[in-house]
Amino acid sequence: MTVADNLQSIFKELPEQVRLIAISKTKTPDQIMEAYNAGHLDFGENKAQELLPKYEALPKDIHWHMVGHLQSNKVKYIAPFVKLIHSIDSLKLLKTVNKEARKNDRIIQCLLQLHIAEEESKFGLQYEEACGLLESEAFRNMENVEICGLMGMATLTDNTDQIRSEFRQLKQYFDTIRERYFPGKASFREVSMGMSGDYRLAVEEGSTMVRIGSAIFGERVK
Ligand SMILES: *Cc1c(COP(=O)(O)O)cnc(C)c1O
Repeated sequence: MTVADNLQSIFKELPEQVRLIAISKTKTPDQIMEAYNAGHLDFGENKAQELLPKYEALPKDIHWHMVGHLQSNKVKYIAPFVKLIHSIDSLKLLKTVNKEARKNDRIIQCLLQLHIAEEESKFGLQYEEACGLLESEAFRNMENVEICGLMGMATLTDNTDQIRSEFRQLKQYFDTIRERYFPGKASFREVSMGMSGDYRLAVEEGSTMVRIGSAIFGERVK
């Protein structure tokens, strides 16, 4: 199966309203070009220092998504071009994104990453922390970021009931937060959940964006 074949078979399964973000971390520009030449434009990376050289080397109509934990001191490298940051996990990080977006005279679209997994290692805000951020004076004064939804990662487990209930939880958080903080705002609409191993469950639970790497590009060696 080629990259183009993989993309096509995933597309066939996805409902129309679900966007596919091809996660290209550790993959070379040539491998990314295989997907690009098949007509794909949305790619995601998890490290700013890997994203910048790929942005520079590859066609400029690609939409670059930042999906991994982002350190505040790395925001400046991606602020000029990043399309959507999925992984806002602190008010401090969001403040930095706002500041760097202003320097670049743009509004950067962001998702709040919520912690839904059992594992402690996964980054993300607790639901109450997300509410605190959205209620803060600092957030209300930000003019260069737009919160477009939530992102979450399920526990790495074979227990599909558990994965499903974590995704369901994230969708409930999304519905509640939309009602409380973004009433009538069409821009708050994304639920980024689902990876190669669990995207079917995520779609059934209301995902609007799936982030798929190995099922498109093959297993990562690194
Ligand atoms: C690597 C990664 C993915 C994709 O993982 P696959 O299992 O290869 O599909 C999705 N989201 C994030 C945040 C990642 O780091």
